[in-house]
Amino acid sequence: MTNEIPYKIYLSEDELPKAYYNLRADMKNKPAPLLNPGTLQPMTLQELSTVFCEELAKQELDNDTKFIAIPDEVYDFYKMYRPSPLVRAYYLEKMLGTPAKIYYKFEGNNTSGSHKLNSAIAQAYYAKKQGLKGVTTETGAGQWGTALSMACSYFNLDCKVFMVKCSYEQKPFRREVMRVFGASITPSPSMETNIGRKINAEFPGTTGSLGCAISEAVEVAVSTEGYRYELGSVLNQVLLHQSVIGLETKTAMDKYGIKPDIIIGCAGGGSNLGGLIAPFMGEKLRGEADYRIIAVEPASCPSFTRGKFAYDFADTGKVCPMAKMYTLGSNFIPSANHAGGLRYHGMSTILSQLYHDGYMEATSAVQTDVFKAAIDFARVEGILPAPESSHAIKVAIDEALKCKETGEEKTILFGLTGTGNFDLYAYQSYNDGTMTDYIPTDEDLQRSFDTLPKI
Ligand SMILES: *Cc1c(COP(=O)(O)O)cnc(C)c1O
Repeated sequence: MTNEIPYKIYLSEDELPKAYYNLRADMKNKPAPLLNPGTLQPMTLQELSTVFCEELAKQELDNDTKFIAIPDEVYDFYKMYRPSPLVRAYYLEKMLGTPAKIYYKFEGNNTSGSHKLNSAIAQAYYAKKQGLKGVTTETGAGQWGTALSMACSYFNLDCKVFMVKCSYEQKPFRREVMRVFGASITPSPSMETNIGRKINAEFPGTTGSLGCAISEAVEVAVSTEGYRYELGSVLNQVLLHQSVIGLETKTAMDKYGIKPDIIIGCAGGGSNLGGLIAPFMGEKLRGEADYRIIAVEPASCPSFTRGKFAYDFADTGKVCPMAKMYTLGSNFIPSANHAGGLRYHGMSTILSQLYHDGYMEATSAVQTDVFKAAIDFARVEGILPAPESSHAIKVAIDEALKCKETGEEKTILFGLTGTGNFDLYAYQSYNDGTMTDYIPTDEDLQRSFDTLPKI
């Protein structure tokens, strides 16, 4: 290898960021406030604090503080698995025969297998600091539940996880990892909550959805003394914590004089993408630099590319605050596809505003194309990628192939959010040729848009 840039750029421990970067401080158009679904007024700190830990509720509402210190206890935990490597994908470039330079930031180097631990540990810390007994949450694909279980076990907090029933049944190993870390797991919809009983009565035999599991977890949190609810994506506070991904990436790139032309990330609720792009988007917003930023979503759950920018409910039970975001409607139930972590009907309000204001692009990819890209990548780079992450791989490969045609030596950066070691049923169906590509029709989407609240 002739290039001076190492295959893996590792930062040293003391190059870990000391503070989270709050992108909202640099946005001229701030994300629209969360609304109380009863009064339609912006949620106050007091209202939010009945659901979330107080410190996290403050972070949720804080549009102005640019840097928020990472607490020492969280910093110490980060040292166990961070800084994460920034990898130059030399072998992928070679396989593609592209003049493009491809980099990926790899967040799969921890037992939860994804970036979600970055926010889980911060959220568990604030819960502990507030003197809570425990927290509740939901998990779809299982990564967030695993991450929060690990974080709660570290801080000795109780962790109750509502796991979408179809994942509960399809991913017994994820469930087992959560139990190793001491969490209790309930398949959702359950018979333990009012909303769970209602949904089970209305839709007998339903295999659940993220929106429904959220309602159950919130119901238990607000009705149990000493408990609060925690969420692994979508929220402003989660994007804030995930800024460690982008801050490390920026430090590593600056060290070697690398400037990305294109930054690509998969988008479920927007937390990894929001975290990866944070410092770069900050420069863009301040007019100091320009980057092409691309969100990639599944064609089966196309919030950005086919959704509406509107106030919507965050959950099926309509108990959570309403958010103005790109949404497919809270009634939208995506087909059972394998990109589990990308199946939420809405999107981060921060990214929604930035997309609406033209600071970033979005595209969608169908499932079989994504798995083809995943396998091409795995064979040369030696990492089995998560299906979610593989959406970013797919578009990074597409962009690198465009460079091959034009001869441009663009620098492409993408987020490799996690590993696919627990997604082998999905790889099996791809390998067996039984995987299908589902794309909702305009009529499907319209049915769901019709139920958007009229605000
Ligand atoms: C949850 C998850 C995602 C999607 O969530 P975002 O909040 O959009 O980042 C992507 N990749 C992996 C591996 C995940 O676990």
